[in-house]
Amino acid sequence: MRRLDQKKMIKKTAVIHFGCSKNLVESESLLGIFAHSSRYELTGNVAKADIIIFNSCGFLSSARQEVRQKIQETKRINPRACCILYGCLARLFRTTDEQWRECARFEKLFHYQVQNTRELASLLENISEKPPARYHQTSPSYTYLKLSDGCSNFCSYCLIPFIRGPYKSRSRSKIVREARHLIFEKEYRELNCISQDTAMYGKDQGDSMTGLLEELTQWKGKYWLRCLYMHPAHITQSLIDMIATHPKIASYMDIPLQHISTPILRKMNRGLTKKRIYRLFEMIREKYPELMIRTTFMVGYPGETEEDFQEIYDFMEYFSPIYAGFFTYSPERFTPAYKYRKECPPFHVSRERIAELWHLQTRLLRNFHRSFIGKELNVLIDKEGRGIRPLSVGRAYFQAPEVDSVIQVLYNHSPGSVIRVKITSADAWKLSGYCVDNKHKHTKGGALYDRLA
Ligand code: SF4
Repeated sequence: MRRLDQKKMIKKTAVIHFGCSKNLVESESLLGIFAHSSRYELTGNVAKADIIIFNSCGFLSSARQEVRQKIQETKRINPRACCILYGCLARLFRTTDEQWRECARFEKLFHYQVQNTRELASLLENISEKPPARYHQTSPSYTYLKLSDGCSNFCSYCLIPFIRGPYKSRSRSKIVREARHLIFEKEYRELNCISQDTAMYGKDQGDSMTGLLEELTQWKGKYWLRCLYMHPAHITQSLIDMIATHPKIASYMDIPLQHISTPILRKMNRGLTKKRIYRLFEMIREKYPELMIRTTFMVGYPGETEEDFQEIYDFMEYFSPIYAGFFTYSPERFTPAYKYRKECPPFHVSRERIAELWHLQTRLLRNFHRSFIGKELNVLIDKEGRGIRPLSVGRAYFQAPEVDSVIQVLYNHSPGSVIRVKITSADAWKLSGYCVDNKHKHTKGGALYDRLA
């Protein structure tokens, strides 16, 4: 195994990110570690790097393949670099490698396999284990606030509990300290609260998500929170009431459902039934009709019938508007569902079902977005416009970053600013309009994000 050239004074270091927003926070911490070390210089050019860290994702075979291809491609560009496999895939291989051919195929690709910053600090000289600060990669308008690590829900198809271990909440004091830094020093407007199951926050340490939200929303200032990844079985009435009514929380809930059919939900070990999901969503729709919901559905699960699939379709139509991501079931070794993989519907059937759902969602979202034409919304600008006819890009309260639709606004508006926008046109994936003025009308006691005026 090639030894790292420790003699070289300044080592050019690149960090390549894969996967979810939780892993992005980890990549930003890694970048922060190197950005604050005198012996390392961050570079985005892998051809020039001495060290390349692949902060990997490992929970789906397609994600692992993506990591492998990227490492192979990078090594062709820069065969002399020291390649370090970091994060989820390194953890997965550490827990399973002796039984796994897939690991063997990777082994020759990287020089070191590192699970966390403690191991990285013992491998590389002159870096600290604790990132002094995150080296942020998102727009200056929003960022992510990680509340915990791991998951103890053990859904039958999921590798995450094997990769990240049991659910462990971060201490409230650490989260509050970081949130204050992000709002008052980094001046972020929107903090997206993330974890594998945000509704479970604090339950392993005598705390609660509503308790945390109360503390995070007590400060004066123009900022708001958005809550993502809440397992439907763990959402409480008080959490819904708080999210739907608090002026400093976007009226938005990301509730991954995965399926609607009770037999499939049981096989998935999701811990709830169709009846309970309908009761939850009917209560939300009745009490808070304008609260926006995002979800995800997995199609093609072992034993899924046409009738099971139709239940997802009917649900999307009945509770529209909903933003949803649709995925095909991926059989993963070591998960309980793996042994039933032969009971999956043929792949072409799963693909047709996914296409049907995207088609449905496109129609439903087009109608939803067109209902804003002629109306005004407060819009947080994420990206400034460029060029002769600049179009800035932003979001209203019902749009989460990077996954939902956006609002295009004529002319330049600075990222992080909140402007009043009159909507002039819309389709399934974006709304467009122009700024009417910067003063925004307050509803809900001074909320920056408001409903339709
Ligand atoms: S809630 Fe289920 S799907 Fe989500 S991370 Fe945990 S085990 Fe995986």
